Amino acid sequence: MLILDIAVPCPLRRSFDYLPPENATTIQAGMRVLVPFGNRRLVAVVLGTKQHSQIASNKLKAAVSVLDTEPTLSPDLLALGRWAANYYHHPIGEVLQQMLPVRLRRENPPREQVELAYSVTDSGREALATDLLKRAKKQAALLSWLSHQESASRNTLKQNGYDYPVIKALLDKGYIAASRHTAKPVAATAAKTLNQEQLLAVNAITEASKQFQPFLLQGVTGSGKTEVYLQAIEHCAQSGRQALVLVPEIGLTPQTLRRFEARFPGQVCVLHSGLADGERLTDWQRAARGDCAVLIGTRSAVFAPFRALGLIIIDEEHDPSYKQQDGFRYSARDIAVKRAADHRCPVVLGSATPSLESLHNVNTGKYHRLQLTQRAGGASAPTIKLLDIRNSDLNNGLAPQSMDAIADTLARGEQALVFLNRRGYSPLLQCHACGWVGQCDHCDVSLTVHFGRRQLRCHHCDAYKPLPDSCPSCKNHSLTYKGPGTERLEQTLKTTFINTQVIRIDRDTTSGKGAMRDMVNAVNEGKPCILVGTQMLAKGHHFPLVTLVIMLDIDGGLFSPDFRGAERAGQLLTQVAGRAGRAQRKGTVLIQTHAPDHPILGTLVRQDYDPFAEQLLAEREQLGLPPCSHTAVIRAEANSLEACDNFLQAVRRGTGMPGNDAQFIGPLPAPIARKANRYRCSLILLAQQRKQLHTLLNRARAAAEPLKPGFALRWTIDVDPLEWF
Ligand code: ADP
Ligand code: ZN
Ligand code: ZN
Repeated sequence: MLILDIAVPCPLRRSFDYLPPENATTIQAGMRVLVPFGNRRLVAVVLGTKQHSQIASNKLKAAVSVLDTEPTLSPDLLALGRWAANYYHHPIGEVLQQMLPVRLRRENPPREQVELAYSVTDSGREALATDLLKRAKKQAALLSWLSHQESASRNTLKQNGYDYPVIKALLDKGYIAASRHTAKPVAATAAKTLNQEQLLAVNAITEASKQFQPFLLQGVTGSGKTEVYLQAIEHCAQSGRQALVLVPEIGLTPQTLRRFEARFPGQVCVLHSGLADGERLTDWQRAARGDCAVLIGTRSAVFAPFRALGLIIIDEEHDPSYKQQDGFRYSARDIAVKRAADHRCPVVLGSATPSLESLHNVNTGKYHRLQLTQRAGGASAPTIKLLDIRNSDLNNGLAPQSMDAIADTLARGEQALVFLNRRGYSPLLQCHACGWVGQCDHCDVSLTVHFGRRQLRCHHCDAYKPLPDSCPSCKNHSLTYKGPGTERLEQTLKTTFINTQVIRIDRDTTSGKGAMRDMVNAVNEGKPCILVGTQMLAKGHHFPLVTLVIMLDIDGGLFSPDFRGAERAGQLLTQVAGRAGRAQRKGTVLIQTHAPDHPILGTLVRQDYDPFAEQLLAEREQLGLPPCSHTAVIRAEANSLEACDNFLQAVRRGTGMPGNDAQFIGPLPAPIARKANRYRCSLILLAQQRKQLHTLLNRARAAAEPLKPGFALRWTIDVDPLEWF
């Protein structure tokens, strides 16, 4: 008897046995099947077939139907999924489901995705010229708009306000025609002549083309890393293989994409969350067919299928967005390295500010370091200065020297950037008379003032309230705003520099479609202006005319309770500083701080990122923290702190002694113990060897799974967590 071993998307860490559906022909591992599960029907993936089941055959259910004629998940992806499920101690069914494009997670078999592009025909042009459509205003508008484009997809038309009935009417009249949407054939831009360091890097990567070799490509922003990627990909493509390029979530800017498309016309596939499900499926299938030289995408693209994978690139490898922070908590960077090992191909991790993990791997000889020390195109490194603001008279967070520096910059016709990693008007509203503070009713945090919207908003849940005029407690009109956010900075700068454009870039101002692009364009028009923003400014964008960068309130990171706090602060600081003086003019960076003597800050400013990172690594080594050890967190979340604590205590007891070279920390309540009315605790596991950590996690799972803590409690495992809480 044939039995199917099936990964069903559910929270159980196991697979399930089913009988094949009636009159099924061939069933192979990696095919999708529809199965009954509880009282639902779910799309699941066949892991394999076997002869025997533990379950009596009359109790076995049959699968409803097979959804594929050939495996959707190839053997290599299936193996990768199994590996990831083991490594992250996550249910195999959920892992495999996440590897599939959304369309393929559904029961209805998707049609082959053909994206149509529309263009104006000759008779359409004639109709326009002779004003034939003057009664049909909408059709005329579409036709006129489209006549200025080479072609446009239905999606693009929709975004511009043209709905399908209008398209259909024009199609019927023969004024426009539809064809299969293909990337416009543009002439490929030529590769640049590489400098010595770039050449060394490209050669090293190409020489390793048929073997597994991780490289750390370390180079400051603007040193020409992308050019190295492009030329390495070119070699890879010439040998008939494909490259996977991973970029951070907000790193996939239109500029970046255009650069890849210009070098590999019609050969670039894209996968990111901003695309429609159908578009994603199209590119997913194209990559699987081998119908592209490059696939560029964000985190989940690490699971994309390839016909012949020959190179993996992870840009800005230190970026936290590579780690999924809920559900299946995988690291796309780490999985990419594993995938390169499976495919025996080189993998390039690029960054100006590498993670301590990758630097550790260089130190232990696992990764080979390639360095780009000069900025390409002759730009020089910025001058970085610390501004001691103790006892300084701040104007809504800005020191007098900062104001002077901005004035000087604008007077020279240049642009200034003010960085503050906190959006809103002010992080705290307090009553000067009675001490009342605006707090979230659902989280243990204060509410942020959003002045423009006249709201108090919680940055940890979705709660908000109207901004009160008087103190809700004592009715006095003595409410004060404590500390600045980007909105307040924008206002301060606008009132100080009256005739200057102030552009704020943060999550609140860029949520509209195309808003970010418009702002970037406004800046790059080149008029003197001031940019204000959060870490959204730190990535991807090229602002050639910014010569002054001012950083406010970076002290928090230096004194953060999290073990990665200082690393993160140093990376952000270096990345933001890298925005200064990227083109011909030299840049200056002013860092306002209350801790000018902080050793880490000093190292960073006087000596650069590498000595800073080495210092942090030495500290981690001493304290036995990652990457010098291995860690995982078991988190519990419930309606009371006590429930979390009891559960994790029981898990800890049930797991038993951790053994030599391993330890438990906790359970500890999270620093913000309550978020959205849920309390949160962590049990931290640390081990010298990765194997010990997994043994311990297996025991912890065995202890946790039978505990029936009730529906209100949820627990999760996070391997290689970014944070402990
Ligand atoms: P990174 O990816 O390290 O930030 P880029 O590859 O974007 O750096 O390069 C920064 C700028 O320098 C880009 O405008 C790029 O076109 C240019 N550039 C890179 N390499 C060269 C080169 N070898 N010769 C001339 N210009 C280069
Ligand atoms: Zn009051
Ligand atoms: Zn809240």
